[in-house]
Amino acid sequence: MDYLTILEDIYKESQGQPKIGLVSTSIPELSIINPDKFGIHLLTMNGQDFSIGDASEKFSIQSVSKVLSLTLAFSIVGEKIWERVGVEPSGNPFNSLVQLEYEKGIPRNPFINAGALVIADVLISELKNPKQDFIEFIREVSGNPTIDFNPEVANSEKNAGFRNAALANFLKSFGNIKNDINEVLDFYFYQCSIEMTCKELAHAFYFFANEGKTEAGKQVLNTSQVKRLNALMQTCGFYDESGEFTYRVGLPGKSGIGGGIVALYPKNFVVASWSPRLNEKGNSELGMFALEQLTTKTGMSIF
Ligand code: GLU
Repeated sequence: MDYLTILEDIYKESQGQPKIGLVSTSIPELSIINPDKFGIHLLTMNGQDFSIGDASEKFSIQSVSKVLSLTLAFSIVGEKIWERVGVEPSGNPFNSLVQLEYEKGIPRNPFINAGALVIADVLISELKNPKQDFIEFIREVSGNPTIDFNPEVANSEKNAGFRNAALANFLKSFGNIKNDINEVLDFYFYQCSIEMTCKELAHAFYFFANEGKTEAGKQVLNTSQVKRLNALMQTCGFYDESGEFTYRVGLPGKSGIGGGIVALYPKNFVVASWSPRLNEKGNSELGMFALEQLTTKTGMSIF
């Protein structure tokens, strides 16, 4: 498969697309990003890298981090984790309070904010130095010791994080947060502030396409666990648009409001895209277009 030519074609076609969507304004620090940044990186299972556009520029991975926090929590506590968070698509906005009331404090899935706050709480209970241990985990799975939080983005979100604070308090009232709320929120805002390039993101997610094993050969999750987390990405990875992403792209993946998307074809490749203009559901407009083109042109999707 000539991935470079395919990426070049997709890039050219993308440049001709109408500029639809707006940069997220919910986190002040992120609203100043150039909306027309665009990059794609594809990594094959035998370690070949293909890049186009702004694929080597760092961006805020935001909710993409929820897959990595879940991975660490799942690897530590196993199936017991599902006693505190569900595995169903939400059908509601990612920061909805209403659903949590109906479901008595058990978030629908780990990728909506309420679910990610519960996972943050689990990690705080399980780790000695939660933020440090988490970033070390990401550095290890991605084979990249330079990956880090962006404290300015974390603080910017903290200052505007009223809805997440409401969710954390609500969860605590149902007994589904065990630690101090401020500590949980602090962990959550920091995890969302992690920055990566498309290339780094593709490498960080390599193990999801490689039956749970990193490029360096570390077994992060067993094959059954990685199947489950890929299934969750497929059904819940794109806010209230997971069906649309599945229909158009046909790969498990996760998006974030920083405009990043990572998706993977098990045993074949990992691909990451970045374009900050978001559609009204919070997914990168151009990123979805590009990945749809990729699986259409290559015929490589899980369906
Ligand atoms: N930090 C963001 C928030 O909690 C994450 C949103 C996202 O990327 O979905 O609002």
